[in-house]
Amino acid sequence: MAVKTETHEFKTEIKQLLNLIINSLYSNKEIFLRELISNASDAIDKLRFRAQTEEGILGNDTEFKIKIQHDAIKNTLTVEDNGIGMTYDEVLENIGTIAKSGTNDFLQAMAQLNKDATLTPELIGQFGVGFYSSFIVADKVTLLTKASGEAQAVCWESHGDGEYTIKEAEKDTRGTVITLYLKKKEEGDKDFTDERTLRNIVSQHSDFVAYPIVMDVEKEEPLPETEQIKDKDGKPIGETTRKVITEETLNSMQAIWSKNKKDVSDKAHEEFYQHISHDWNPPLEKLHMKLEGTTEYTALLYIPSKAPFDLFNPESKHGVHLYCKRVFIMDDCKELMPEYFRFVKGVVDAPDLNLNISREILQQDRLVRNIRRNLVKKLFELLKNMEAEKYEKFWEEFGAVFKIGVHTDFENKKKIAELLRYKTTKSDGKWKSLQAYIEGMPPEQKEIYYITGDNMSALLNSPLLEQLKSKDLEVLLMTDPIDEWVTQALTEYDGKQLKSAEKGDLDLDKIDEDTKGKYETLFKHIRAHLEDTIKEVRPSTRLTDSVACLSGDSYDMSGYMEKILKASGQEAPQTKRVLELNMAHPVMEKIHAMFEADKDDAKLSEYIHLLLDLAVIAEGGKVDAPSKFSKVVGELMAKA
Ligand code: ADP
Repeated sequence: MAVKTETHEFKTEIKQLLNLIINSLYSNKEIFLRELISNASDAIDKLRFRAQTEEGILGNDTEFKIKIQHDAIKNTLTVEDNGIGMTYDEVLENIGTIAKSGTNDFLQAMAQLNKDATLTPELIGQFGVGFYSSFIVADKVTLLTKASGEAQAVCWESHGDGEYTIKEAEKDTRGTVITLYLKKKEEGDKDFTDERTLRNIVSQHSDFVAYPIVMDVEKEEPLPETEQIKDKDGKPIGETTRKVITEETLNSMQAIWSKNKKDVSDKAHEEFYQHISHDWNPPLEKLHMKLEGTTEYTALLYIPSKAPFDLFNPESKHGVHLYCKRVFIMDDCKELMPEYFRFVKGVVDAPDLNLNISREILQQDRLVRNIRRNLVKKLFELLKNMEAEKYEKFWEEFGAVFKIGVHTDFENKKKIAELLRYKTTKSDGKWKSLQAYIEGMPPEQKEIYYITGDNMSALLNSPLLEQLKSKDLEVLLMTDPIDEWVTQALTEYDGKQLKSAEKGDLDLDKIDEDTKGKYETLFKHIRAHLEDTIKEVRPSTRLTDSVACLSGDSYDMSGYMEKILKASGQEAPQTKRVLELNMAHPVMEKIHAMFEADKDDAKLSEYIHLLLDLAVIAEGGKVDAPSKFSKVVGELMAKA
């Protein structure tokens, strides 16, 4: 019978990744074993979860284990599991691509990495490279696997050099065997075919894995009396012992969350965190707690120190695993964490949970809802009590996601608002809480000023802030798209209204009615000229130095919001903006004189368009006719 065999090229990014891994993890080679064991353990978890609803799926292969075998002569190492295995298509999907973290995110991250000269394991770790780490120590890797319920097995093979082959194969039992053909040992390298070395690596990195990690070990045992050769006096004359091979379990399998808090070292936390999160950086913070009473559960949660590259991908996995009395129920249990805490990783073990619970029922389960409410409360306390410097780190990485809560969790809006941080016109690039902002307000200031936009330096220099700055009033600089939703949901804080510096009347100075009267007809004329884009022309309350800016009425959509909607391909209703002009600016005087002399002057029309262009440019926008703009400015400069 013809066997299906295919040769594939790795996707380009995988090729690059392989090189990165091999080069950057050079001094950290042994972690490949932890990665393979983690995958094996995940594969058993998945099967066990399915077995809860699909009877008979396990057959008589019911003793889960992960087996390590080494062969010093052939210089090979194998890691075998009787987990869920993979079908032909799954091997193609999982092993030839990085399916997990959207190819796009990955490529972007890659481009970023190429810019940085130093590639550290921490950086690489964020990709969750798992299986590919085999190529740090092996120059050939085969993966033989048979998925649960399939008759056909699959063999994948690669030298890690850009190509891999995949073919149908034979395998008696369910699960996966990965064979590493080890590279020649270099000086200082560990011997990965040595029993002691392997034992040490397992106990250091994978002790808590919930399934036995076994290895055949050779032991001497006394020869039974009946098999001993003895002389006539009954003294043994031959061997009294013999060598036997027994399968030994190398890990304690102790679930670290069920241990006493004080008995778990930081190192153990780190290893466990890496196991469940596939992130190689140590966590920023942990939360280990046991709750007894009506809602009983143990939780061990971690806040990562680095945001994953797929943080904003709605399909990215949430990191909380659900257990019942140490039996794995499911990974990625979204019901336990609100969306805005999606970056939290960890384990929840609830002894009263129904073991056959499905994802569908989970949402309505009262116990699960209570646990979630509790965890959220504890996480808020943790964040609130974090030391300032650590909290800033947290904010840099996860603030943009955490802020979603203001918009989605009405019950906790206030608590979330307390944890918000923004850079401001006065904070010198540092983060500031709303509380700190309020404490710095002069007595006559009534509102909290903010401005939204995608570019921090454009915001800092925005003409919209000129008046506010000249009055020494502080403005929150909001540069995350989500801030547009934050400001919709959070209209006040501690009794103070949030006020957009871009919209409505800032009420800072009274407009000089005489000057306003003088400019009235000119403004009408300008408005008529720019009617397609501008809904009104007004004397500005915001400008001191610049001549023009764009603003909106209190209930208008902000310029940034319109940009966000357009960028996401949504139909943004065309809101016409208000053109504000600075009546105190000398240019206005000139234009006014031109208007008085001849309102049909072609130059006047040019200058009116120029005013609009200046306002657009000031907020980081693009002018409609750049070449015309540059021509007119050029002429003006020549005249000056
Ligand atoms: P990660 O484990 O971080 O997802 P890997 O590259 O290590 O990334 O593995 C990719 C995918 O291949 C896994 O998500 C899993 O679906 C599959 N896989 C890897 N090892 C095994 C295994 N031993 N048994 C079954 N599936 C596996």
